[in-house]
Amino acid sequence: MGAKNSHSFTFEENWNEKKRRAHEIVKRLMNYHQREKLLIGDPYKTLIHCIISQRMRDEVTYKVWKMLFEKYKNIRTIAKISPEEMQDFLRKNGVGLWKAKGEWIVKSSQIILEKYGGKVPDKIEELMKLPGIGRKCANIVLAYGFGQQTIPVDTHVNRISKRLGLAPPKIAPEKVEEYLKELIPERLWIYVNHAMVDHGKSICRPIKPKCSECFLQDLCPYNKGLIKKEDIK
Ligand code: SF4
Repeated sequence: MGAKNSHSFTFEENWNEKKRRAHEIVKRLMNYHQREKLLIGDPYKTLIHCIISQRMRDEVTYKVWKMLFEKYKNIRTIAKISPEEMQDFLRKNGVGLWKAKGEWIVKSSQIILEKYGGKVPDKIEELMKLPGIGRKCANIVLAYGFGQQTIPVDTHVNRISKRLGLAPPKIAPEKVEEYLKELIPERLWIYVNHAMVDHGKSICRPIKPKCSECFLQDLCPYNKGLIKKEDIK
């Protein structure tokens, strides 16, 4: 089986051509959106960052995340406070969905301490059992917390992969992950999320993509009219 057989694209392209195009796209994305180094190294802080970040702007997420660790220091202190105290902290600092997030942060910390001896698990199935951790956050923890080769699919990765015809336009994000993993060499997986997020914020924007400024024009079926805005979910 494999992702390639299960859904349809809006244009013809054989799998080997798609693979070659995907590889070239990722190389250009990495080259254009270079990052000095990936932020790898602290699975617990990465996990808390991901919970706070849901439906939040990056700048606010980062500010609150920093304040949270200045105030509560580490997993042991966070696991001891009440969900209400964490909810209050998040609400006062302008975090949306503060009620759910406050509970997820405290409960996840308690579970990691009690069940995993204070070490964040490094398997996707275990991570997804933690409250508030879906597939995207689990993959973010694996990639940026543990440095594992994987591809977190957020809203930017989902949209851009579909515009570029690397995943069929109507499939769910977890299926997009499968397509990307089949198309892109494993050693590059960890760069895909960062590069597509940067591209999505600067050029391939959600509402009006700046195709005339984009270095992927010649490789992009959306730019060639082969995929339409209304095709994409
Ligand atoms: S050409 Fe347009 S749609 Fe294609 S990747 Fe670039 S900005 Fe996005």
